[in-house]
Amino acid sequence: MLKPICLLCTGLLAAGNLFAQTEPNKSPATQDAAKPPTVRDAAKPTTEQSPPPAVAQSPAAANTSADQAAKPQVDKNPPPLDPKNMDTSIKPADDFYLFANGGWVKRNPIPPEFSRWASFNELGEKNNDALHEIAEKAAAVAPKTAAKSKVEKAAAADLLKVGDFYASGMNEKEVDDARVKPLQDEVKRIDAMKDRKDVLKEIARLHSMGVTAFFGFTSGQDDKESTMVIAQAFQGGLGMPDRDYYTKEDEASKKLRDQYVEHVTKMLTLAGEPAAQAAENAKKVMALETALAKPARTRVELRDPQKNYNKMKQADLQALTPDWNWADYFKAINLATPGDINVGQPDFFKGANEVFKTVSVDDWKTYLRWHLLHDLAPSLSNDFVNENFRYFEGTLRGTKQIKPRWKRVVAKTDEELGESIGKLYVAEHFPPEAKARALEMVNNIKEALADRIKTLEWMDEATKQEALKKLAAFTVKIGYPDKWRDYSLLKIDRISYAQNVMRGDSFETDRQLKKIGKPVDRSEWGITPPTVNAYYNPNMNEIVFPAGIMQPPFFDPKADDAVNYGGMGAVIGHEMTHGFDDQGRQYDAVGNLRDWWSPESAKAYTDRSKAIVTQYSGYEPLAGLHINGELTQGENIADIGGVKIAYMAFQKAIAKKGPQPKIDGFTPEQRFFLGFAQIWRNNQREEDLKLRLNTDPHSPGRFRTIGPLSNLTEFQKAFDIPDGSPMVRPADQRVNVW
Ligand SMILES: [Zn+2]
Repeated sequence: MLKPICLLCTGLLAAGNLFAQTEPNKSPATQDAAKPPTVRDAAKPTTEQSPPPAVAQSPAAANTSADQAAKPQVDKNPPPLDPKNMDTSIKPADDFYLFANGGWVKRNPIPPEFSRWASFNELGEKNNDALHEIAEKAAAVAPKTAAKSKVEKAAAADLLKVGDFYASGMNEKEVDDARVKPLQDEVKRIDAMKDRKDVLKEIARLHSMGVTAFFGFTSGQDDKESTMVIAQAFQGGLGMPDRDYYTKEDEASKKLRDQYVEHVTKMLTLAGEPAAQAAENAKKVMALETALAKPARTRVELRDPQKNYNKMKQADLQALTPDWNWADYFKAINLATPGDINVGQPDFFKGANEVFKTVSVDDWKTYLRWHLLHDLAPSLSNDFVNENFRYFEGTLRGTKQIKPRWKRVVAKTDEELGESIGKLYVAEHFPPEAKARALEMVNNIKEALADRIKTLEWMDEATKQEALKKLAAFTVKIGYPDKWRDYSLLKIDRISYAQNVMRGDSFETDRQLKKIGKPVDRSEWGITPPTVNAYYNPNMNEIVFPAGIMQPPFFDPKADDAVNYGGMGAVIGHEMTHGFDDQGRQYDAVGNLRDWWSPESAKAYTDRSKAIVTQYSGYEPLAGLHINGELTQGENIADIGGVKIAYMAFQKAIAKKGPQPKIDGFTPEQRFFLGFAQIWRNNQREEDLKLRLNTDPHSPGRFRTIGPLSNLTEFQKAFDIPDGSPMVRPADQRVNVW
């Protein structure tokens, strides 16, 4: 079972991982990939996880230039809707995305350290600056605070951990001098393996450290008994962003594979292998990973929660993989009572068993060394950091320059200690009024969705009642968790950055595994408070909006309702709609995978969603490369439903206030749609676009604007657009599910 935590947007500062499969380098692409969403994965900062410079040069030089890079220009205090961001030479009827954003698009070339520059990144940078300040202060005062703690004990402990972690990461000289030394003990263990029993133990050990070698294993809610957490085994073990990267036969894919082998060679060489041997070994890594990729499911196949729910007894799991001893594995990861296990992709495990049995112990050594290096590369010396960036950010995403060190260390602090630095962040940056206003919007939008469900022409009464029950049961989380995570048992010091990261990863893995067999904790959050994102989690039946996103251009306390409903309102509507998208609709009010639909209503739904697949599959963002309408269907349904529901709530809100004036020549209705379009403004490198078209369940920003709006008569009316215009789909092709 894959638990799709549907995020608004991925690949940003701290976007999330959906389900589980590849968990390659934890770079953004993989994040969307396919792995049971553990809270940790969701919280993983994705963007710069895999640091690295496209400009191949000496590490020192690369780093210095990055540190001196000019900051991306972000306007301070812009008006909620800035006319200079528009391009009024373009007609709204022809291309509303450019009409609303053309000025911004022209004035905002992608900064060299980004693969995409969007409203999400602008806000992410702002939040990063705030975290930077907090971390710097913590690093400066932490030791003193610890010594004579007058501050409340827990707050002092947070400050101390954040300060120590950040300081260890910023101690570049120490990190560089240590090179690969922090991994030495682990490498020795790998090299000492003698037989397959040792290989199993070593894989288990790497799993305990959070390294997803060979396959993935974690905890997650039981899809059919959502009050309980059970063990989850899922496909994984790859280094490239997706299984398709190993199997596609086109020239571009072949080239990326060659470049990957080159990258693995370089990494192994940096770790001390002679170049010729490293080159041979890299080919073996490729062969092993290809053997794991072949039986792995595609991202579209991973979207089917029923197909990915295969709960079984340990004995049945053992029968599935006769050569892999699960009892030994569970013992090695310290899991005394595994209980029943959900095996997401049984065919993968059958294939993995063959791989385990046939690959030589020596080749396993190479593969495990590689995955250890790959996982920890961003926390090692600059030669590793830069080589990792070169392939994963440079080659795969087209990013020109690595982010300055502080940004990478701040992101890592958010990843490892997110609810510690997050607590300090919300204390300074999230006023209680923001929470109250967001809650009010959520309630209005919820009401609008309820009204809409009641009047749906294609759904029968019994199904409507179930849908309304589900909507009423939504849990809403805003800003930050009520109960903060306790990091007191996590040891952080100023001695070794890589060791801190390894301890942080182990701490998190342990936290996840300890949940197995226990009731679910509904207070947990899947992303950290400063994150510019939002999500719906079907097992919890909850929508979550962290403090980080509740700022301009999404939400602006000084803006008119039109802009706030078009921005944050559409985001809220989007997440709510996920509860009723192609995946979310299969879960009930308490988060169980249970069919509550009448066959007639289910058919009517499927017909409508097919039309959405057709619409988006028709878009061709890059010559020859279309949007994958199947992969993106859930997000597209949520985009279309979200803006529609937000518009209904907006109309209700202004009806109470009476007629509203035009601002900058635009009616409130027009400003709503302009506010919506501006949250999707972006510029993107071609490599990044290509990667995302292959892996991201979200459509590109341009199509997240024109796709939904071209279906909406409310939009057509607001701008008085004639039928037959590019921004208006023919009446018989318009789709509206929600
Ligand atoms: Zn979404």
